[in-house]
Amino acid sequence: MAAVTSIDLPGLTKIATGKVREMFADEADPSSLLFVATDRISAYDVVLENGVPHKAAVLTQLTAYWFRVLTQPGALAGQTAPLCTHLLSLAPGPTARLSDTERSLLRGRCMRVRRLRMFPVEAIVRGYLAGSAFAEYSKQGTVHGEPVGATDGNSSTVRFPPGLVRCQKLPAPVYTPSTKAELGAHDENISRARAAELIGNPAHAARIEELALAVYTAAAEHALARGIIIADTKFEFGLDEATGEVVLADEVLTPDSSRFWLADQYEAGREQDSLDKQFLRNWLVREGLKGKEGVIMPADIVEQTSKRYTDVYERLTGQPLESALAALE
Ligand code: ATP
Ligand code: MG
Repeated sequence: MAAVTSIDLPGLTKIATGKVREMFADEADPSSLLFVATDRISAYDVVLENGVPHKAAVLTQLTAYWFRVLTQPGALAGQTAPLCTHLLSLAPGPTARLSDTERSLLRGRCMRVRRLRMFPVEAIVRGYLAGSAFAEYSKQGTVHGEPVGATDGNSSTVRFPPGLVRCQKLPAPVYTPSTKAELGAHDENISRARAAELIGNPAHAARIEELALAVYTAAAEHALARGIIIADTKFEFGLDEATGEVVLADEVLTPDSSRFWLADQYEAGREQDSLDKQFLRNWLVREGLKGKEGVIMPADIVEQTSKRYTDVYERLTGQPLESALAALE
């Protein structure tokens, strides 16, 4: 299967292009969108010229798997209201003006989703202190602007104790939001108070924080039982303006939105290899191509990266990717 790096569907209106996805609207079905993953891959914030076969299917089917797991009754501890997700179906609606060829191109890589008003924050949850959070912690003694060692509001919980080393497990998972930068810009780590301001409605802000933490906690436990640490992850939520619900949207708990580490190789105090992209990042660094535009990966790098994405899918779900694809109508 060849990688697909751009998708045009003349019968539908393309309303957005992200680093990885294309979003289409169907006039006949205005409350939904077609959320289509391409096989594009980015590393060090730059999208590579060629794509990775099966990557879109991994991202889409893994998100669908998590949505199924997380919406089971009792899946999220302490939740009274059930989790709502944006997923409507894993195929375009019958009204979508698509040819048979286009429908087969979309197979496995698309979701028909509820059209939402997205909240302008990335709901990051961290179970371990890695990436930009560790950098800020060690340089400035803060995490997302919050002083290390401070207690959390009226509770006596210390979210970021002093003396943590790189990639160390935090005492409990923490919600550390960031802004959602436009294409080409960098997200900025912000405080929970600033995130609440951007979200606009305190009840929505509280619901986003509560859901992000509950979803991370349930998923981290599920993954650890399969040998994978979810060190941190990023969720996006949107408002369903018809029902007033705060809905879990976008992709969830994929290798693109999360740091996945192998539990049996984990050791605090050093960098960990990310399960899938490390191989590509190492190659870019070795070749002096880190952060460069227009890079074309050679065939063996593409193949190895594709294998790694598929492997993560299979470890987490316990199923070959082909079974998920074969089960699609
Ligand atoms: P990255 O994920 O690397 O930051 P990106 O966010 O620019 O890249 P993609 O993941 O390629 O973009 O595209 C997904 C876009 O769709 C995001 O802007 C996301 O906020 C938006 N989105 C996700 N779900 C919905 C939805 N149900 N309704 C409306 N917009 C959505
Ligand atoms: Mg995205």
